[in-house]
Amino acid sequence: MSKTTKQFQTEVQQLLDLVIHSLYSNRDIFLRELISNASDAIDKVRFEAHSNEALLEGNADWQIRLIPDKAAGTLTIRDNGIGMTAEEVETNIGTIAHSGTRAFLRNIKEQNLAEHPEMIGQFGVGFYASFMVADRVTLITRKGGDGTQNGCRWESAGDGSYTIEECTKEGRGTDIVLHLKEEMKEYLDEWKIRAIVKKYSDYVQYPVVMDITREEPVTGADGKVIEGAGTMEKTTTETLNSMKAIWTRPKSEISDEEYEEFYKHISHDYDKPFKTIHYAAEGVSEFRALLYLPAHKPFDLFMPDRKRGVNLYVRRVFITDNCEHLIPDYLRFVKGVVDSSDLPLNVSREILQEDVQIKRIEKNLVGKILSTLAETKEKEPEGYLAFYKEFGPVLKEGIHFDHANRDKLQELVLFESSRTDAGQFVSLKEYVARMPEGQKEIYYITGTAREALEQSPHLEIFRKKGYEVLFLTDPVDEWVVQHLTEYDGKKLKGVDRGDLELDTEEEKKEKEAKKEEAVKQYKDLLGFIQERLREQVKEVRFSGRLTDSACCLVADDYGLNANMERILKAMNQ
Ligand code: ADP
Ligand code: MG
Repeated sequence: MSKTTKQFQTEVQQLLDLVIHSLYSNRDIFLRELISNASDAIDKVRFEAHSNEALLEGNADWQIRLIPDKAAGTLTIRDNGIGMTAEEVETNIGTIAHSGTRAFLRNIKEQNLAEHPEMIGQFGVGFYASFMVADRVTLITRKGGDGTQNGCRWESAGDGSYTIEECTKEGRGTDIVLHLKEEMKEYLDEWKIRAIVKKYSDYVQYPVVMDITREEPVTGADGKVIEGAGTMEKTTTETLNSMKAIWTRPKSEISDEEYEEFYKHISHDYDKPFKTIHYAAEGVSEFRALLYLPAHKPFDLFMPDRKRGVNLYVRRVFITDNCEHLIPDYLRFVKGVVDSSDLPLNVSREILQEDVQIKRIEKNLVGKILSTLAETKEKEPEGYLAFYKEFGPVLKEGIHFDHANRDKLQELVLFESSRTDAGQFVSLKEYVARMPEGQKEIYYITGTAREALEQSPHLEIFRKKGYEVLFLTDPVDEWVVQHLTEYDGKKLKGVDRGDLELDTEEEKKEKEAKKEEAVKQYKDLLGFIQERLREQVKEVRFSGRLTDSACCLVADDYGLNANMERILKAMNQ
């Protein structure tokens, strides 16, 4: 392949423009992104080498090397990770493969990104942060096991196009060469680099090294200083990070800031987490977990192929960021790390699918997360509400999928209702506590929007009786009420059901009598309407429910309700 020039995908270039022209001041994070990519690449080669040792080329001395070159004005980040083939460079750099992400980026408010370019990490485009400090970036890479002549050289000035060509490269892995902008030369400074690595990448588990050259007094062969011989330059390689996995340290020694930085590192979120959960489990299954509940939802929460949030380690060695059974789908917003002491290091991804240890860990994590949420709801209702507004629709999926924890989940779900203001919520517990005397059931109405539900004629009788009605406006609520049929001994019923127990015995009798009379009097009319609507409805009957409206539609006791029918229709059922 000779040198070819190619165009960036439109969305990538838009993103680059935003990054390049951003006034954002914290440019330091470019180094965090590049070191994190280097660390990911080493994780990969390390894991894949279990089944294919040739990848290693005899070099398992993991290292991320920073090479500032003042004369050339470049900062190079070099790793001996997995490396990339030319094809992989093309797909990984310069395109955003995921169409959902592309669509999202197209719609994102430019303002937001200009103020928070560090957000880009969450879109899987952290690499482009390079262009905050460099006006040209060269990437030289070679895949492990591929032979020195199979390297690839990619270069771009971030101006719409990039070049790509073959090259030779000695060692396996990737060099990112940043040609620093004139005003960004401070990133060549030893102390500046040290400070950034310490702040953002201290817990990276591979050594981040740099050659440090100092003037030292001349020494003899015995290592002793020779008086009067002057000084000489001496270069030593120093490791800049402590490499201490934060989750292995005692809680008391970890500052809030460290927890926060680690969260940002793994989540690519630009905001603080809402809650941090750090604990060690002992007994049947031994592991450490450091979990975070984010403060706001990521853009891809409802995209089917989003990344999973909890990474699996075995005795501090990274195994996978894609372990299916570590955390259930309805808690997919949880980010963090689980480090097991029980699993074997060379555990394969297939085994992980079936492993009982993983299932035990999952059970434990779910218990811990749900109890943390319960406690938060109790102690910080405001905070919980804000969290619930972001993640409630996802959490509610658990009622459908996690039978074992339904009791706990039903305490965590909240709904708007006929007695709350818009944006305010009630729990089932509160609902039951404020039920007026005589009310035997819990009522809800489903639909797409609160405003529409408030107009429903079904609510008339409930208003009159002072009964609260829950407004279920999430699509997922339909599944919720299929499983949450009873709470605290009270049945949950849709207001459009035919079998509601709204009246006292006396009221019932009174109504029955009136109805009978009406049926007699208007038999012909009823028959006429029934005849005209034969195709549309099953039955036309008098109702004791309405106060102001002339008629309403009700569902069979076991039939589908109107909203469900609408959903199924939309799904073409
Ligand atoms: P993310 O890391 O979230 O995937 P990035 O923009 O940081 O997004 O990187 C894009 C992709 O480019 C990575 O997923 C990886 O496949 C590839 N990549 C980036 N840096 C390296 C590297 N140093 N070694 C190997 N692959 C890399
Ligand atoms: Mg990255």
